Amino acid sequence: MDLVYNIPPMQRIYLDNNATTPILAEVLEAMHPYLTGSFGNPNSVHSMGIEARTAVEHARSQVATLVGAEPESVLFTSSATESINTVFAGATVGARPGGRVVVTAVEHAAVLQNALALEERGFEIVRVGVLSNGQLDLPRLEQALSPETILACVMWANNETGVIFPIQEVAQLCNERGISLHVDAVQAVGKIPVSMSDLGIDFLSISAHKIYGPKGIGALVSGQPSKLQPLLIGGHQESGRRAGTENVAGIVGFGHAAQLAHENLFARVKLTESLRNRLEAAIQQRIAGVEINGGGCSRISNTTNVSFEGIDSDAFVTVLDSLGVCVSTGSACHSDSLSPSHVLMAMTGSYEKANEAVRFSVSHLNTELEIDNVVDALEHAVVSLRT
Ligand code: PLP
Repeated sequence: MDLVYNIPPMQRIYLDNNATTPILAEVLEAMHPYLTGSFGNPNSVHSMGIEARTAVEHARSQVATLVGAEPESVLFTSSATESINTVFAGATVGARPGGRVVVTAVEHAAVLQNALALEERGFEIVRVGVLSNGQLDLPRLEQALSPETILACVMWANNETGVIFPIQEVAQLCNERGISLHVDAVQAVGKIPVSMSDLGIDFLSISAHKIYGPKGIGALVSGQPSKLQPLLIGGHQESGRRAGTENVAGIVGFGHAAQLAHENLFARVKLTESLRNRLEAAIQQRIAGVEINGGGCSRISNTTNVSFEGIDSDAFVTVLDSLGVCVSTGSACHSDSLSPSHVLMAMTGSYEKANEAVRFSVSHLNTELEIDNVVDALEHAVVSLRT
């Protein structure tokens, strides 16, 4: 097979939108003044400070609207990872080692590594598994929520399979027991309706760069700000919840991206679902020995995770990249490790199967022609790798 390297960006087909999304032109435009003329510090009392403060507070309302929360409950952070670290730090203040933290086995590394760090400090960690279709084992979660539980972490939608977890039921179980619940909604916002206050979720983490906003800006939304412990100590920014001068342009970009995600939610879902379904149907029709992981479950509209029998997914992703197609084997955070996806391991229990899984995550910016070209490239790569 001829491998073509150094493909110009315009000719690449990007189907890795769960790793990160491009910044929309409108978002960049909204940010521009705050990177140039309107560079004031939002904590300054003069007019330039007020201009920046007004922009930050407007963005706070835009983000709050996206997740159905009050603006005061939105704390801007540098990433969802920072939001998650803040939750873990706050939940364990004053808690005696021995307390229980319940997480699902398929959470993002930001949750799983925090849980591991607590385990090393003497906390009891219960990792609740998923069924073979990727759905949360809800009865097992219910069993795990003992009176000693100080925190439960359940993601809304899985970043590798797109499977949506029953957050309403999870929130009810936690509320009935008075257990704090953190929901990682990074892959859910902008893809399904998310309303925090309707459900009684205590903490929700989100990130701008998954919804066509800039990298380096996220939010922790909390109905219980008193339970938050600042991770960064210093000035009184973010009402004393996070020290450090605010990333004004990033916040403005996040706010604008959140507003667009809210306004265009159903249009984006319709487009991405149609592209994802076209891709899945063509793969199943044209390539033998494939399995859609999580295919039987309710999933976010843009994601499909496919196992290609007998093909090592790392090699597959590399060959596809050489053909101008950008996809991934799972979470971008694991891309430098050769261990197979912990999500696919939790679902299949098989190292071999987990090693065959490739994630395709489309956006509303992709086209049907791109999907058709990707299927051609897949067919070509599969034939070449299987022989
Ligand atoms: N949680 C999930 C489900 C994710 O997919 C990601 C990013 O891939 C994160 C958390 C971390 O987000 P950030 O890059 O903002 O730290």
